[in-house]
Amino acid sequence: MNEFARPPESESVRRKGTLFCPACAYESPIDERWVETTTATVRVRSCPECGAVVDSRPRRRPLASAGVG
Ligand SMILES: [Zn+2]
Repeated sequence: MNEFARPPESESVRRKGTLFCPACAYESPIDERWVETTTATVRVRSCPECGAVVDSRPRRRPLASAGVG
């Protein structure tokens, strides 16, 4: 019986700039082959192998006025 003790919630990004697909275990540098889809509110990276969403983050709108003292 082999049972791997995996953490309940591991980060998608383990190394700096490397993403791992939770669905098919595909891994690649964040800027390489991931399918990037940008909507009005979020930016999503999908796996090029299986299409699973591996990373999604809200887009930041550039602030027109920044308080610079
Ligand atoms: Zn995948």
